[in-house]
Amino acid sequence: MKLMMSHCCGRLVVPPSKAMRSAYCECGQCAVWWIDPRLGTLGVHAPSDRHTSVIGINNAFLTEPFTPMNGGKDEYGCITKQQIDNIIRECPPNYMFKTVESNIIRFRPDFHGIAGITFTKETKDIPPDYDKNKDY
Ligand SMILES: [Zn+2]
Repeated sequence: MKLMMSHCCGRLVVPPSKAMRSAYCECGQCAVWWIDPRLGTLGVHAPSDRHTSVIGINNAFLTEPFTPMNGGKDEYGCITKQQIDNIIRECPPNYMFKTVESNIIRFRPDFHGIAGITFTKETKDIPPDYDKNKDY
């Protein structure tokens, strides 16, 4: 999963699931959209490169079952460090999560990932569904 963090207003923005549809941060200066969700290619618009970060979360981490805590049911559990380590260990070797040994990564929009796993476009790109008459 990828999110855009907008540093102008501190919002995390999820790109709409359909390609070429953008979502804006609260102050309207930054936008994010999927160019190709299947390939993980994301587009980002911002006034400058320093206005946004992209957050990548390992999908395996998001679907990992909870470990029940204190004898409770699994909905009261958490993901343990051992589970986190196992998820990273089981990542394909070309995944950036494996390379940096983390289930979450933060990078600048113009960063090009390792082995085609994560690509983002230049921050100067105009959102594909931008309407100059709309007040964002
Ligand atoms: Zn903003």
